[in-house]
Formats: sequence, structure tokens, C-alpha cells
Amino acid sequence: MNALTVGLVCFLLFYFLLHNLALRLNARSASKELPPEFRGTYDAAEYARSQEYTRAQSRLDTASSTVNTFFLVGFILLGGFAWLETAVSALQAPWLVQGLVFLGSFAAIFELLNLPLELASVFGLEERYGFNRTTAATFVLDKLKTYGLTAVIGAVAASGILLFFRAFPQFGWLLAWAFLALFMLLLQYVGPNWILPLFNRFTPLEEGPLREAIKDTARKTGFDLEGISVMDGSKRSNKSNAFFTGLGRKKRIVLFDTLINRHTPAELSAVLAHEIGHFKLKHIWKKTFLGLAQTGIILFLLSLVLHYKTLYTAFGLNGTPIYAGLLFFAILYSPVNLLVSLATNALSRCYEYEADKFAAKAIQRPRDLSSALKRLARDNLSNLTPHRLYVCLEYSHPPILERLRHLNGLEPALTEAEKEG
Ligand SMILES: [Zn+2]
Repeated sequence: MNALTVGLVCFLLFYFLLHNLALRLNARSASKELPPEFRGTYDAAEYARSQEYTRAQSRLDTASSTVNTFFLVGFILLGGFAWLETAVSALQAPWLVQGLVFLGSFAAIFELLNLPLELASVFGLEERYGFNRTTAATFVLDKLKTYGLTAVIGAVAASGILLFFRAFPQFGWLLAWAFLALFMLLLQYVGPNWILPLFNRFTPLEEGPLREAIKDTARKTGFDLEGISVMDGSKRSNKSNAFFTGLGRKKRIVLFDTLINRHTPAELSAVLAHEIGHFKLKHIWKKTFLGLAQTGIILFLLSLVLHYKTLYTAFGLNGTPIYAGLLFFAILYSPVNLLVSLATNALSRCYEYEADKFAAKAIQRPRDLSSALKRLARDNLSNLTPHRLYVCLEYSHPPILERLRHLNGLEPALTEAEKEG
């Protein structure tokens, strides 16, 4: 054990305490009174149920972070990595194969560790609150498909990084960066066209008022809509969502069947206008660019520490196989990652307000977006009053009440403009 190990273990325990403190505060910050904005959307029983759901989720989250943190700390302190490296070396395989087995085994151990918690979440918690619609057969098939895909995608990405770093110790990080950027671009195409259809069925939205309303919103905002699809989200859960797919200018919007069943065409148009706002305001490009820059910085930092023996001794290894170094760096990066995610979450919350503002202007009726958000919150049993600390750590979207108040503030300005117009 060296100073690096002590520092890392201290950070893992610090993060564990911080995360659980945030969960505690969050569960306690639920107000007894229904916020006035939600009168008419919730009744007392539904509101109480949403708070129970938040508390039940917190308990499961606490169990999950306890299992994961203490297992990882134990694995580091009790020489788990040295044991894994010895087992992998005994294979006498080429180094790249050994590397992939090493990384894959570590991922598999954590997957096995988390499987019971996932079962408890899907078939226990989500079932109890009426969200789960996944059958045992779908769950098993999903898992098998995900394992296959993760193995292929993970193996390609890891092989690229390892090969470049080994062949060119000086500037391998630049080549690995270019390789990962191209690979991610390829996945942007492969994902919606080949991977998503493995899990869900997509059908074109039928002719009718909803289709017309959506097309009208796209026209008004000058958005190039290639098509509108409906996805059978109800196969797995009663929760609802919508997203865009497609590279370049032409986009396809995908609506969950669960979303269509519960919202009016005006509400769905408002949700669409919000999503279009993300495109028009270049949020998608900015996020992609930031992600790419972050990947470059991570790979550069990796190139600085990958050949230091201390990195390996910190995790109990005598040799310096770079595939192990890659994993150790990923674990050591977690404190930096915490800071980065605080910043990216804050930025993402700003973008949500901007997209809401864009939508309010585009549809001229912010209250359509408000009522869509309220209904989504009610149907998904969202926490209406999350704690500030929890929001900072975990929320990529602003809390629902803050979004509603922001939209409310936009309403008078629009009416004034309408009067003048
Ligand atoms: Zn958004």
C-alpha cells in the first residue's frame, strides 16, 4: 500500500458518505404540503405515493452504493487485482487477449455483484409502484443482448486504446483519440439503425391530429423532420419519454407509446418544441464537442501516468501490464470525474432552461409545456422537492418546480408581445 492507495480509498469513502448524505437530505426534504403549482394535478394520496417512491428509491440506492464501494475498497486492499492478473497471465495468451480478459473479468464481477440489486429494482420496487411491464423472458433476453453488444463495443474501444498506447508511447494518445472519435461517430449511426431495433419495435405514427400538430411545430421552428416513429416503450415500463435520432440535418423523432397515450397533441408539440430548441441552440453540438475535448484530456493524462510503476504498486501489482494501468487510471480518475460531472450537470441544467424558453416562444403558449411537465412528473412519481445538494450531484435537468416557475415567468412577456402584435 502506498500514498496513492490511501488517497484513493479515502476518496471512495468520502464520496460514499457525500452521496448518502445527499440521499438522506433528499428523502427528508419532501414537504408535507403539495406545492400550489400541482393543485389539480395531484391528489393527496398520489402525492404521498410519490414521496414513498422517492424514499424507496433512496433505500435501494443506499444498498447499491454500500455494496459497490465496500467491494471495490476490499478488492483494492485485499489484493484482488494481483490475483486477477495472476489468473490472466496463466492463460499464456497474446497480451491483447490477456488485456481484454482482464478488463472483461473486472466488468463481469461488478455486473454479477449488481444483478440482485437490479432484479430488486425492476421486479420489486418498479413492480410495486406499477411501473414494471418487463417479463422475466424479456429481462433475460435484454441482458444477453446487452452483454453481447457491450463485449463487442468494449473490446473494440479497449483494443484501439491499448494498441496505440503500446505501439507509440509518445503520441499514442492522439491516435487513440482520433480512433475513439471516429468510433463514437460510427456508433451514432449504428445505434438507432441497428442496435435499437434489437430491443424495440418502431412504427410510423399514423395520420391524424397528433401527426399534424407535430409537423406544424416542426414547420414553425424551421426544423427538418425526416419522420415520426412510435416506440413500444410499454414493453418494459409505464414510464414515458421521447428522443431524436439521425446524423446531419434530417432528424427522426421517436415517441414512446406510453407518452402518446397520456398527453394531448398540444402538450406533445410543446415537448417537441423543447427538443427542437436543443438543436437550434446548438446544445447537442456543444455537448458533443465538450465530450470529445474531455476524452482527449483523459487520454493525454493517461499517457502521462501509464508508465509509472507507482500506479501499479498502488493496486498491488509487481509488473506493469498497460491493460491493468488503463483500469487503474479509470478508478483513480473518479475524484476528477466528480468535479467534471458537477460542472456538466450545471451546464446541462442551464441548457434545459434555454430550451424551455425557445419552446415557450415557438408555441406561444408556455402553459402547454407546463401541463406536459406536470403530467410527466405525476405519471413518473417524480420528486417535486429534491434537496439542493442532491440536485447539484445528480440532476441533469432542473427540478420540476423551478422549471414551472421559469415558464410561468415567460407567460406575461408573451401576452404583452401578443397584445402589441
Ligand atoms: Zn431538454
